[in-house]
Amino acid sequence: MPFQQVSIFRTQKSDDSVKGQDCRDDILKLLRNWLMCFVTTVTCAPQYILLPKGCECRGIGFYRASGRRQQRFAGRRSAAWLFPTMAQLIPSSIPSSPASPFRCAVLGCGFAGLSVAWHLLKNSPKELRLRVDLFDEAGIGGGASGVSGGLLHPYSPKGKLLWRGAECWKETLRLLNVAEMAARHSKDSNETSDGLIVRRRGILRPAVNMKNSEIMTDNAQNCHPNCRIETIGEDYAQTLVPNICAPLDVAFYMPAAVNVYPRPYLQALFLACQNIMKENDVGQELYLHKKFIHNLLDLEGEYDAVIICLGAKVDMLPELSGRLPLRTCRGVVAHMQLPLDMGEDYPEHAPSILSDAWLAIQGTRSLYMGSTWEWKSTNSSAHVSADEASKALEELLPKASVFYPGIKNWSFGGAKAGLRAMPPLTPHGSLPLLGCVNSLVGQNCRSRYWLFGGLGSRGLLYHAWLGKLMAQAVLSCDEQIIPSELIAWKNIKR
Ligand SMILES: Cc1cc2nc3c(=O)[nH]c(=O)nc-3n(C[C@H](O)[C@H](O)[C@H](O)COP(=O)(O)OP(=O)(O)OC[C@H]3O[C@@H](n4cnc5c(N)ncnc54)[C@H](O)[C@@H]3O)c2cc1C
Repeated sequence: MPFQQVSIFRTQKSDDSVKGQDCRDDILKLLRNWLMCFVTTVTCAPQYILLPKGCECRGIGFYRASGRRQQRFAGRRSAAWLFPTMAQLIPSSIPSSPASPFRCAVLGCGFAGLSVAWHLLKNSPKELRLRVDLFDEAGIGGGASGVSGGLLHPYSPKGKLLWRGAECWKETLRLLNVAEMAARHSKDSNETSDGLIVRRRGILRPAVNMKNSEIMTDNAQNCHPNCRIETIGEDYAQTLVPNICAPLDVAFYMPAAVNVYPRPYLQALFLACQNIMKENDVGQELYLHKKFIHNLLDLEGEYDAVIICLGAKVDMLPELSGRLPLRTCRGVVAHMQLPLDMGEDYPEHAPSILSDAWLAIQGTRSLYMGSTWEWKSTNSSAHVSADEASKALEELLPKASVFYPGIKNWSFGGAKAGLRAMPPLTPHGSLPLLGCVNSLVGQNCRSRYWLFGGLGSRGLLYHAWLGKLMAQAVLSCDEQIIPSELIAWKNIKR
């Protein structure tokens, strides 16, 4: 990139650079106006800025103030005080062509990749002239995201609000709305027509063992107001889903929980990325490459930032293989259909069901039943053999029959599978892995490499808020934006 790094603070101690961070934005604004050229901080530490090459810097005077000046420096008037000093920065020959765009490669087009791409495009300053290259060997939604059940709520199996569950819930609902709007306004998309992205009918959870039922009943009392949990009996549950069984006469109903149709959602999110680029109209670019990435160093130097969102297949990159604390777990999902001459339709307004198995309702005669958990599998293929499908049915049908005996009238219509990337358990639960991974890829790399992975079995809940944080971290080149709980995995010795 044709930039030079310039120190704006002569800082020695770490607390000084924190103050530096406080007023760096002001300095940037002034410099941008004054030099009328692109000044950025995206790939450098807080005490530096980047200026286009060709700007001569004579006697840089951005030093740390002391005494009374220091008070002003740390306060609101810091920028005004610094202005005269900036006059020493002389633009000798500002390049006539605008600075190069800020180039980001996003590897993977699942929930993680598309969320981070949307947030990058949404939040990048116009001077950056962001270019995003999306890479996916299988196209949009080809990994675990495309086969996920799409069940979305912010609770653990015990009904406890998950770590930062409120933020995650809010941001995911927001991103779903963004995708729905994009689909609604799209003239040429058949797949993503209105109403097919999210099914808003709630989720019902019949209790199947006494211990869990008691814990959930307690936890339900402290549920989040934006996603209430109602504790109900079997009679009431049957008004929601006729013939449902709640063996302990207890079920938990989350009326605001939703069921996302993952592939149409991802298609619509991609559309939303294209739309935001057009709306911004500041020279941003977005490209989708259907291409397999063999290793990270193939991309070295071509991009300012490479964001790795490869789900469970991240471990196949030679630079990261065996170095991330992730386990893999394959899950098979069965498509079930109710034959026309058989049984009663699943009611249009009835919720999806979550228990030892789950039923993600697609329509009155179509649902997905999931899921199996095959730990340590490395098979990421969506294809399910006849043998694997019949084993999955043997496992899932008895579990689903406990709460929905009518499932025996439904016939098998095919199966698909995905590989989850499961992160380690922490005191806050199983949290995704985020952060800069240059220490693993190579300290002398010119590109910055970022990991956004380990979304486990809750990709939908996590992808939006964490995609937003990841984009902010990439754009400001500041890992500190990411909550420490999500970076703590780096301390695990392997
Ligand atoms: C059966 C099943 C059911 C699930 N149900 C739910 C659910 O109901 N609710 C929920 O929240 N979560 C659910 N999950 C979990 C959820 O699907 C994952 O957390 C989420 O999909 C992870 O998203 P991701 O973007 O990190 O990875 P992925 O969706 O796997 O995306 C990674 C992408 O990278 C691409 N890729 C990989 N390697 C390369 C390479 N070398 N070069 C180029 N491209 C590459 C893949 O093609 C893929 O598209 C389920 C998972 C499974 C398996």
